[in-house]
Amino acid sequence: MIVPFAAGGPTDALARVLGARMSEALGQQIVVENIGGAGGTIGVSKAAKATPDGYTLLFTHMGTLAVNIALYKSLPYDSLKDLEPIGLGGTNPMVLVVKKDLPVKTFAEFQAYVKANQKKVQYGMAGIGAASHLGGLLLNSMMQVEVLEIPYKGTAPALNDLVSGQFDYMVDQAVNVLSQIQAGNIRALGVSTLKPLPQLPGVPTLDSAGLKGYEVTIWNGLFAPRGTPKEVIAKVNQALVTTLGDDKIRARLTELAVDVPTAQEATPQGLRDLLKASIDKWVPAVKAAGVKPE
Ligand code: ASP
Repeated sequence: MIVPFAAGGPTDALARVLGARMSEALGQQIVVENIGGAGGTIGVSKAAKATPDGYTLLFTHMGTLAVNIALYKSLPYDSLKDLEPIGLGGTNPMVLVVKKDLPVKTFAEFQAYVKANQKKVQYGMAGIGAASHLGGLLLNSMMQVEVLEIPYKGTAPALNDLVSGQFDYMVDQAVNVLSQIQAGNIRALGVSTLKPLPQLPGVPTLDSAGLKGYEVTIWNGLFAPRGTPKEVIAKVNQALVTTLGDDKIRARLTELAVDVPTAQEATPQGLRDLLKASIDKWVPAVKAAGVKPE
C-alpha cells in the first residue's frame, strides 16, 4: 500500500490503522511503503503505473488527486482515468498550529502578526498540492498575506521542525497534530471545520475567529491502478468495509478526530463521486485564490 507522504504523518497514520485491520480481514499482510515528495505526486504516479494485479494499492488524500490539478501545469497521472477507486478511508478536519513561542495567543493576534511580519514569517507544508498546502494557501489568501513556504516530504517531518521552532505555522490534519497540541509543544489557534472539535476544547473555528467562510476537510481514500480486476477491487473493498465497521477501529478513528465513512461513501462508486465532486469544488477555488500552477 503506497502512501505518498513520509512515515508518521496523517496519511500514513490512517493507512496503518486501516491497513493492520484489513490485513486480518484479508488473511494477508499489507505492507505500507512511504514514497514522499512533490506534494505526493511521486508516490501517486508510482501507484498509477504499477502492475494492476491487486498487489499494489494507494492510500492518499484529495490534495494529490483533486487539488493539485489546479497547482501543476502537467501532472504525470489522470486521477479519474488512471486509478480505480476502492473506498473512502476517512475525512479529517485541519488545525492551524503555531510554534510554541510565537508571540500570539489568538487568531486575531496571529493575523496581525503575520501581516506585520510577512518578510520573515514562514509556514510549513508537505509540497505543492498537499493537504497542508491547500489549508495554508487558503488561509494565506484569505488573510491577504504572502509568506515563505517551506516544503517537506510529509507533515511528520514538518511537525518535528515546528515543535523545535524552525518555522512559524502550519495548517495540518488533526490526526497529526493533536498529541503535540495536548503536550503543549505547539499551539492550536483555530480549526478548519464550521463546528469546533470536541478533541480540542476551547479552540475556535477559523470561520468564527475572523476568516468567515474558511472551511476545509481532507478525505483519504483507497485506490488501485487502473485495470485491477473487478473481483480484486470487490475483495479489498470488503476488507475495508469490515475494518470501518469494527468498533475498535471506529473508536480509534474518533479519538484521532477522523470522521468514519458511511457504508455508501465506502463503496468504489461513492469514492469516484467524491473525487469528481472534489475536483469540481477545489480546482476553481484554488484558481480563485490566485495561486499560479508550477
Ligand atoms: N497529508 C499531509 C499533507 O498533505 C502530508 C502527510 O501525510 O504527511 O499535508
